[in-house]
Amino acid sequence: MLANTRNLSRSNAHYRNALKRLPLGVSSTFRYWGDDRTIYVKRGKGGRVWDIDDNQYVDYRLGYGPAILGYADDRVDAAARRGMEVGGVFALSTERELTVADRIANMVPSVDLVRFSNSGTEAVMAALRLARAYTGRESYVLIEGSYHGLFDAAMWMADVGEWNPDSRSDPETVPYSKGIPMQLKDLVHLTPMNDPNRLEDIFARHGDSIAAMLIEPIQGNCCGISADTEFVRLARDLCTRHGALLIVDEVKTGFRVARGGVQSLHGVTPDISTFAKAMANGYPIAALGGREKVMRMFRYGGAAHGGTYTAHAVSLAAAEECLRILDETDALETIATAGARLKAGIKAILDRRGIVHSFAGHDSMFGVFFAEEPPGNYRDWKRSDYTFYDTMAYHLHDLGVICEPDSREPWFMCEAHDQSCLDDTLRAVELAVDRAQEQLAARPQS
Ligand code: PMP
Repeated sequence: MLANTRNLSRSNAHYRNALKRLPLGVSSTFRYWGDDRTIYVKRGKGGRVWDIDDNQYVDYRLGYGPAILGYADDRVDAAARRGMEVGGVFALSTERELTVADRIANMVPSVDLVRFSNSGTEAVMAALRLARAYTGRESYVLIEGSYHGLFDAAMWMADVGEWNPDSRSDPETVPYSKGIPMQLKDLVHLTPMNDPNRLEDIFARHGDSIAAMLIEPIQGNCCGISADTEFVRLARDLCTRHGALLIVDEVKTGFRVARGGVQSLHGVTPDISTFAKAMANGYPIAALGGREKVMRMFRYGGAAHGGTYTAHAVSLAAAEECLRILDETDALETIATAGARLKAGIKAILDRRGIVHSFAGHDSMFGVFFAEEPPGNYRDWKRSDYTFYDTMAYHLHDLGVICEPDSREPWFMCEAHDQSCLDDTLRAVELAVDRAQEQLAARPQS
């Protein structure tokens, strides 16, 4: 481990105290970045955050995507305050639910009806339950490298850790975590992105027991690996032919990569879509929406859906304003332009040093790869030099840029990433790349 080049003494001390009450000193395991590198945030504004040692960072994690307009956006926060005056939750509905549902349905043509949830996990969990209720079937297809939240049915992955990409065998399907019943594995069909033959084969063999196929056409938790349009259309077609439902998980891409989400970029109509991150600029709210006949299964005697905090007045008011901004202003164009500029700047730095690289995903959420071509699926990611990414990310943190330390998380852009953010970032990238090269060159050769 290298020494920190920023002062983290307060964060380090807080970490040691927090450890006494909070496992790993944090409230989400992914927020633990090591005993001496776990940081605690004092505040965020626009595209920047400050930690409790007063280190300033340009932030490209944005809480894993939600702060699409930037932290503490005055317009959304004012709306949230108006929501506060409504009074919280009532175990009854408010009028604003329809206003927000109308907005979502107008932005995303595949959505006839909407139900709200509190988190992406809850929305996807409800979507899968709905698909099972509608079809009367239980198994489902997942794409390798996808992430659909922390619920048991979604927590199955291809174990590429020890897997040899040159072998002809498939990586093993394993749970993400201890505590997940192995019995559930029989219901999962895991398949690589962009492999039409494999997908056709799964449907040919199991089509009559598949309730749904879940897909993130831009993998928001796997470097922005993207589905080819033909692959998403094949998924649509196979689901239709076999009576399964297509669930497009837009928790990260929804209202970000386009007003109508990633589905609009592919011209594909899912049966159910899930949304969360960009809905309310960080206030906790999510939604699922879809075809009328399917959504009407949410009824007594049909699929259960609800929850005490569902459609909380504060989050709902924030969503109304955030979605209005994303729909009616050029915020999304601004965000994508900033992403394109940042990518061009990073490319110029890497090109000057002859470092082979590529980008995946969308300008508003992109993965950086140290390989000629971006991976077409999670198995390909194994072949890219993620050691260089991980080393560069480590130095970027010290230099005031927050990106995910793991190369599988894309960089997220927000409307508040202005030129000064980009300039500061590129200065840091230049230094971080040099430091990463030096550090890796100094490694003992095995
Ligand atoms: N689906 C996708 C595509 C996601 O990216 C995430 C979160 N990273 C989830 C579901 C789960 O959302 P949440 O963390 O809000 O539960």
